[in-house]
Amino acid sequence: MKFDFLSESDQAYFIHKASTLVEALPYIRQHSGDIIVIKYGGHAMGNKKLSYSFAKDIALLKEIGISPVIVHGGGPQIGKKLKNKNISSKFVEGLRITDLETIKIVEEVLSKDINSEIVNSICSTGGKAVGIAGNINNLINATKLGFEVKDSDSNIEKIVDLGFVGKPIKLKTEIILKHINDGEIPVIAPLGIDNENFVYNINADTAAGFIAGKLKASKLLLLTDVAGILDNKNKLISSLSLIDAKKIILEDFVSGGMKPKIKTCIDAMEQGVKKSTILDGRIPHSVILELFTEHGIGTQLLSE
Ligand code: ADP
Ligand code: MG
Repeated sequence: MKFDFLSESDQAYFIHKASTLVEALPYIRQHSGDIIVIKYGGHAMGNKKLSYSFAKDIALLKEIGISPVIVHGGGPQIGKKLKNKNISSKFVEGLRITDLETIKIVEEVLSKDINSEIVNSICSTGGKAVGIAGNINNLINATKLGFEVKDSDSNIEKIVDLGFVGKPIKLKTEIILKHINDGEIPVIAPLGIDNENFVYNINADTAAGFIAGKLKASKLLLLTDVAGILDNKNKLISSLSLIDAKKIILEDFVSGGMKPKIKTCIDAMEQGVKKSTILDGRIPHSVILELFTEHGIGTQLLSE
């Protein structure tokens, strides 16, 4: 059929737009009622345009009956603030040794600066976001992380004291579920508190995976600064079974921050999360593209 009142390019544009929306319908149905935990950080968070497109995606999810729960990082922003205050940090295998002075700054940056920035951004698009710091009201009970490193000379494993770097133990799921049921979007700062009221910094990937597992979320999305898991030829692996994921973390081509990220996905799926995806947060609307298109983007890890 030809529509004389439309130019060919307008017709193509409208058909493309409509088919994109129609393609989304089965996925909207499929995810309706789901809890989806999203780790947001790194590149996407520092860029104004990207953070606005992320906020719009999140508000849209809530609007169509999906329950997003956001867990954010903040490494670069914490580094900047510490530098401004002339506090230097030592790192062990990428983890910052966090003394009492440092954890105070970490807490301030995560639970005030970054958290409110994300909350405000989502609220500005019409979503009802609510900021929660993991250490407040004992939301996340944590304990000191016993971090093992191998001594390069003797090859003996030893535990390094990283200070106030924590491992999550317990989660008051009822606090998060109450916000969800009240129509709100929880935005969680990855902090924990121990039984003596000491505050701990928790790696944001770890916190997101832990929260997804405890909430029995349908999906965990880890937004990062690469396309997903790349193989030994630098090609994107688009899907991976749990068994293969366990094998791949032992390979040489998986290193740095990607190792704990895959480990987080494995742990979350062993806690009952059905799918997890590592995806590129540098792509505008990456969350929507992942959830509502046939092939999605990034690397999807499947529990079966
Ligand atoms: P984030 O800030 O999102 O947690 P990280 O830097 O901790 O990001 O982890 C992602 C990084 O992991 C990538 O930028 C990349 O440099 C590194 N990496 C190591 N091995 C791989 C791999 N096989 N595939 C993709 N990225 C990898
Ligand atoms: Mg990381």
